[in-house]
Amino acid sequence: MMNADFAHAMTTLVPDTARKRWTDRRIASKSFSCSTFMLYLGIEGTLPEMSHHTIAFSPDYARNVAEIDAGQAPEDPTIYIQNASVTDPSLAPEGHSALYVLAPVGNLTGGVDWSAEAPGYREKILDRLSRIAGRDIRPLIRTEVMYTPDDWQSKMAVYEGATFILAHNLGQMLTFRPRNRFEDLDGVYLTGGGTHPGSGLPTIFESARIASRLCADDLGLPGRRNLTTELAREAAE
Ligand SMILES: Cc1cc2nc3c(=O)[nH]c(=O)nc-3n(C[C@H](O)[C@H](O)[C@H](O)COP(=O)(O)OP(=O)(O)OC[C@H]3O[C@@H](n4cnc5c(N)ncnc54)[C@H](O)[C@@H]3O)c2cc1C
Repeated sequence: MMNADFAHAMTTLVPDTARKRWTDRRIASKSFSCSTFMLYLGIEGTLPEMSHHTIAFSPDYARNVAEIDAGQAPEDPTIYIQNASVTDPSLAPEGHSALYVLAPVGNLTGGVDWSAEAPGYREKILDRLSRIAGRDIRPLIRTEVMYTPDDWQSKMAVYEGATFILAHNLGQMLTFRPRNRFEDLDGVYLTGGGTHPGSGLPTIFESARIASRLCADDLGLPGRRNLTTELAREAAE
């Protein structure tokens, strides 16, 4: 049962010649989702004026999306800020806040050198965050973790750093994705966002149910007992 990112695991764990349908070439030809540039910040002080969720759109959103599609680091990014400490102060030590800042950026297919880009990008995001917070955030930072598309690939084994995995477009949805009873290798079952039926957390849970059901069927185990009628019908098909 394989839950690791499909594209990364196949291209690094299984020799290309062992795969008939999902070859390295075919995988590389697919379209992959965007990536994210992240700052996880531990801040001294509270930010009661900042909501739990804030989305600050790029002033030129069409350009922002085009840059992401082209695999670039957007010049003027859209950012999502989560200030969850306003809802649950226990998420940080007393008098402190935990901030999560996400900027959608292009995945690694665009060739951005993130080791060179990251320090400037961090400044850009902190400038934006400070404007929204109404004060310079920098002197308040006590802990910080930064994640770039490179980190998603090298530390979290995500193919091309595409955090939302194999893109979820019409030509790559449902039956067009790698199947849960993997057609290229006997006895291998796939689950996760890069497989059937698709990405997004509820869909990913569904892929786990389908994969475990198929595995249980093949092993002659009573895996179907707890399934909904809909899933049982799909199994019959
Ligand atoms: C910052 C961020 C924000 C997101 N926000 C949302 C959101 O709001 N809504 C949403 O639906 N999705 C969101 N996503 C996407 C979502 O988190 C992923 O699509 C989802 O977690 C993928 O689930 P998965 O089970 O396929 O893979 P993962 O959760 O990545 O699990 C794969 C596991 O396999 C392990 N692994 C990898 N290689 C090996 C190996 N060789 N051996 C053993 N284990 C291995 C990994 O360590 C990992 O634990 C977000 C992602 C990120 C990064």
